[in-house]
Amino acid sequence: MAELMQGNGQKTTTGEFLLERQEVASPDDAPRVILAPRRGLFGRRAERLGAISEGHSLGPFLRFAAALCRAQEDAIGALGERTLPGIASAVTGDEAPSAPLGPQALALNPDWGDTLGAVAAWIEGIEMPEAARRALKRLRTIDRRVLNAWAAALLGEVSDPVDPVLAPFVKAALEVHWVAMASKLEAARLAPARERGACPSCGHAPAVAVMHAEPRYNRARYLFCGLCATEWYMARIKCSNCLDTGGITYYGLQGQAGGIRAETCGNCRTYLKVLDLEKEPQLDLVADDLATIALDLKLAEQGMQRATPLPFVFAAPA
Ligand SMILES: [Zn+2]
Ligand SMILES: [Zn+2]
Repeated sequence: MAELMQGNGQKTTTGEFLLERQEVASPDDAPRVILAPRRGLFGRRAERLGAISEGHSLGPFLRFAAALCRAQEDAIGALGERTLPGIASAVTGDEAPSAPLGPQALALNPDWGDTLGAVAAWIEGIEMPEAARRALKRLRTIDRRVLNAWAAALLGEVSDPVDPVLAPFVKAALEVHWVAMASKLEAARLAPARERGACPSCGHAPAVAVMHAEPRYNRARYLFCGLCATEWYMARIKCSNCLDTGGITYYGLQGQAGGIRAETCGNCRTYLKVLDLEKEPQLDLVADDLATIALDLKLAEQGMQRATPLPFVFAAPA
């Protein structure tokens, strides 16, 4: 197991912290909200998962996740370019509501269950761990009302328990609909009035943070929503969970290229991975989060908690 290291791996992190503090100021010309394209997002993620699965200790699991993403790309393609009912209220009227794609959009998207069926049917034909095949078989026997209750829980509307083995399939289908809806929003109308740790499109907590390589983003830090793929600006060295700025420390894994570090908060004891695309342009926000589970395990040993669960993992990995 790789060892944790603080900051940039130097014995003292003072130099790096000074550098980061100079960059905290908000870049005025960087966009506040970035919406994902409807097509291609899941397909690129599938490719990245396939590439990093080679020689990875979680290879079979990552290849299964890749297949699930390919099924998602296929499902979002089947939705075409139509505007889904859930965003009707979000794109009309003078003032867009805060988080227009909150849990209330579920009732407006009853066909998300058909997407779930399509995703399940797509991956039936692929090679997968036996446990996943059993889960997939069981999924077909679950009543639609139960599936809806699980979906509501995954969207944060209710706190009902969700079957941890089947949750990744349900979440995958919801992501298809939420990315499809968010892609039709207007980024300018979503710009949060003030910095916050919740997605301006759907209200979800961020899955990871990202720094883009392109100059137009001005090295700003964006938080990324794992449900609808919206990104929104938040100043660096600030906890997205409790907004504290005092006790932030960065950790990375020894022997890695340095594009992924965990931003830990000493105040609320949570952390968020920060993916730096200038250092490693090939990183995918979901695939590489999953592939660096070793960092999560190390931080768990230190008593740190992820602000949101790892993608595809709702049960403890076997
Ligand atoms: Zn979102
Ligand atoms: Zn915090």
